[in-house]
Amino acid sequence: MALNNAYPTFEESILPPNVYLLMTDRFSNLWPPRNETIAKALSFVYQNGDWGRYHGEQTDLLESKLTDYFSRTHVHLVCSGTLAIELALRGLGVRPGDEVVLAAYDFPGNFRCIEAIGARPVLADIVGASWSLSAESFEAALSPDTKAVIASSLHGGLADIEAICSIAARHGVKVVEDVCQVPGALVNHRRVGTFGDVAVLSFGGSKLLSAGRGGALLTNDESVWQRINVFKDRGNDTFPLSQLQAAVLNPQIDSLDDDNALRTLNARHLIELTSVIDGVDGLVFNSDQQPVFYKVAWRVPSGQQRAKLLELAQQYELPLFEGFRGFAKRSERRCGKPVPLNQSEYAAEATVLLHHPMLLAEKPVFEECCEQIVQLFHQMRAS
Ligand SMILES: *Cc1c(COP(=O)(O)O)cnc(C)c1O
Repeated sequence: MALNNAYPTFEESILPPNVYLLMTDRFSNLWPPRNETIAKALSFVYQNGDWGRYHGEQTDLLESKLTDYFSRTHVHLVCSGTLAIELALRGLGVRPGDEVVLAAYDFPGNFRCIEAIGARPVLADIVGASWSLSAESFEAALSPDTKAVIASSLHGGLADIEAICSIAARHGVKVVEDVCQVPGALVNHRRVGTFGDVAVLSFGGSKLLSAGRGGALLTNDESVWQRINVFKDRGNDTFPLSQLQAAVLNPQIDSLDDDNALRTLNARHLIELTSVIDGVDGLVFNSDQQPVFYKVAWRVPSGQQRAKLLELAQQYELPLFEGFRGFAKRSERRCGKPVPLNQSEYAAEATVLLHHPMLLAEKPVFEECCEQIVQLFHQMRAS
């Protein structure tokens, strides 16, 4: 597949494993995916010139794959998940002064997107070991000014999106589903991202569907789509996703369900292995949910123990990190805090995350890492 003599062939471009060990972590050879279908997609758009065109076959194909996969009628391809959240709020008619509820443990950009519109973030709590917005807490945080809610599902945890949507409908509140971490997950056999008014995806460099950058939003509501279209269109598409990005995403959507199945199997195995360790909580599995894993998360007893664990993890070159810092400490000048946020505060202090590429490692490598992670948790508890 020589594109040009100056470039390595596909086989030559696969570095030997010892070279990867010098890179950021032991699994950087697994992400972004390097496989024949992605290499072919890149070669194809190089040969036919699509890489240098605004819109065309690749972006059209991505739009149709996404609308099929999520059973939605309308899609916008955009430059990031963060921007997609902001556009979703604009499309739903959120105005300056409106309130938007979000979890106090969430992706930092979601808070900023609400502020960017001049609306007011209002914090609700998460359900403990699901890292995702609590329906009950959301209901308690509603006020007559609430216009929308951002329901994020994080770290494999899935929000009770059916309850959230029915509460929202009763109060005339619009629902943005943030599916950036869980593309392909199911709740009651229905795909997450098909419940709310708008669903948002990210195609950032670490995400399960990755083009280095990019995002999308999906809706069945033509007026929402149209409002966003007017905002985006300034003679050109102001926040675009390129044909080159679309070309590498198309094959990843085709393999998403298979890749998710392997990641979920391995994540469940790992969470089960760690479930016997006193003081370490992993995700609680609900039988009506089929999670997918962008991160595997645990809560440990304290910030000090977490710091100890992460120090040990560095020695093993294991890709373990802190979770989000959350918003519970932000001042009431910046956000409404009408309900207790205990679970979000605990999650912000005590969450440890494992990045997903390890979940696609060869079996012996994966098992060795599982053993090391279990051992790290034991060492942390003994320290
Ligand atoms: C990554 C992420 C985003 C934002 O996506 P970008 O494409 O990085 O801007 C939003 N929400 C959640 C939950 C995310 O994990």
